[in-house]
Amino acid sequence: MHSIIENIGQQFGPGAAWAATSIFIFLRYAIPATLVFLLVYKWKKQAWFARKIQQKFPKGSEIRHEIGYSILTSLIFGGMALGVFVLRKMGYGELYFEVAEYGWVYWFGSLAFLIVAHDTYFYWMHRLMHHPKLYQLFHLVHHKSTNPTPYTSFSFHPLESVLEFAIVPLITLVLPVHAVVFLLFTMWSTAFNILGHTGYEFSPSGFTRHWFLKWINTPTHHNMHHRQARYNYGLYFNFWDRIMGTNHPDYDNYFEEVVERAKQPTDGHPTLPLRQQPAKKVAAVVAGLLLCGSVAYGQMGIDDIKNGNYGTPESRTTQMDAMMKEGLNLRQNQLQKVHDINLKYSKKVEDEVVKADLSTWSKYRRISKVQNEKDKEMKLVLDATQFEKYVTKRDELFWKGVSEFFF
Ligand SMILES: [Zn+2]
Ligand SMILES: [Zn+2]
Repeated sequence: MHSIIENIGQQFGPGAAWAATSIFIFLRYAIPATLVFLLVYKWKKQAWFARKIQQKFPKGSEIRHEIGYSILTSLIFGGMALGVFVLRKMGYGELYFEVAEYGWVYWFGSLAFLIVAHDTYFYWMHRLMHHPKLYQLFHLVHHKSTNPTPYTSFSFHPLESVLEFAIVPLITLVLPVHAVVFLLFTMWSTAFNILGHTGYEFSPSGFTRHWFLKWINTPTHHNMHHRQARYNYGLYFNFWDRIMGTNHPDYDNYFEEVVERAKQPTDGHPTLPLRQQPAKKVAAVVAGLLLCGSVAYGQMGIDDIKNGNYGTPESRTTQMDAMMKEGLNLRQNQLQKVHDINLKYSKKVEDEVVKADLSTWSKYRRISKVQNEKDKEMKLVLDATQFEKYVTKRDELFWKGVSEFFF
């Protein structure tokens, strides 16, 4: 590969060498990502739906956003890789080709070191990017994907791309690395990243509680980070998150929920809750309504929804007010504002979702939108601790509802 790039560079100039390196990097990511994407989002979409971590699919516009940024990322990575290559030509850093030069122990040791060092670098770099001063500029692009796909694994802002790639010169310029070790490391990294962003969970039950396996991150782990960005910063291993206390407190339970769901008998029917599945349609409507429930912060029990006692926006608001007053320790000056928001969004849900003539799937999406709008307003009224509790409770109701009703 190096000599090809070198030839291109000598014949057509540095721009062509940059383009060639970028294309190579892009294809090395895009080909496996596309194969995985086709497998889980097209060919096995129905059959594997129960294994889908978030029980919904991202919009086409989100996927296009990811692919667009992936191209940009490939250009940045390509430029930096070329830079490393040129530096090496100038005598900085060593890529060696004869195993015997340093021996097999060093060969395996350096591979393990690369992986562990990258894991450590990533955790801290990632936490830094979540600093409020850096987040918007560096990391928001990656988090635009709240329901990640294989293409999310390269969807970075150019500044984040620079940080993501920086580990390569940091290590390879100080440490002699065998060419195959480097290749294996980049393959491992790409594969882990694509699988971590697939949105599907295939690990067996008990994985996150097993004495050894629990140290390896699952797709669910990173998926939770995309859904709720305050936890789960780690990359390959569950080491830093565990010792720094940043593992999602519900990680184990949520993982088991996802895995359990896949075990439920489906009588040979695919479990995708779309229009073409009348048997599941009722459940999907109920789940949609339960989502209204979560918008409304658990104003009604699951039995109420099953029995069709949805109540009126006013009655839901009364229940919601009471729950939030107690659950969040609302202060006197917050009560009226919270009440107004609850009422406003209960009515909105009533008009735009419950009564609206929409497909189940559209209802499902509409509720999520309303929920986001409501969150924004709640954030202005609640303090940080209250808001956190509010979101946690809402998520809890949401996932409980989805798992109970869909499957
Ligand atoms: Zn991610
Ligand atoms: Zn993040």
